[in-house]
Amino acid sequence: MKQNGKRKTKPFQVRKSRIHGRGVFAVRRIRKEQRIVEYIGKRITQADADRLYGNNGNKHHHTLLFAVDDHVVIDAGQGGGPARFINHSCEPNCEAVNEDGRIFIEAIRNIQPGVELTYDYQFEADETPEEALELYPCRCGSRNCRKTIVKF
Ligand SMILES: [Zn+2]
Repeated sequence: MKQNGKRKTKPFQVRKSRIHGRGVFAVRRIRKEQRIVEYIGKRITQADADRLYGNNGNKHHHTLLFAVDDHVVIDAGQGGGPARFINHSCEPNCEAVNEDGRIFIEAIRNIQPGVELTYDYQFEADETPEEALELYPCRCGSRNCRKTIVKF
């Protein structure tokens, strides 16, 4: 016998974004502090990430990497889920929470259906601010946009 409950569907949907490529949008109301999705992918070492993606100008892949700590990186380019489509914003409505090395995207305010989900990548890069503006521009459109996804 099946349970006669409402099927739990995801509160979000992946579709084209004005910020960048595809984005993730709320399809239901999401409450502040609600855990939305886990950032999944292959766990690799920082050294592997550098070897795979470092210094080859492949900036697209950089945004699919989530640094868990100084050693471990989640590579959403390999076995990634929908969280890899969540765009950066300088004024985000979500945050990435590190729980024992697993990364979860959680709402930091109430989000209405149709609104794009975003978090601050706090991207680390060796580039100078001038290079970061050029290589990793931000187009989030928020009032306090720092014009790059890199955090200095
Ligand atoms: Zn921005």
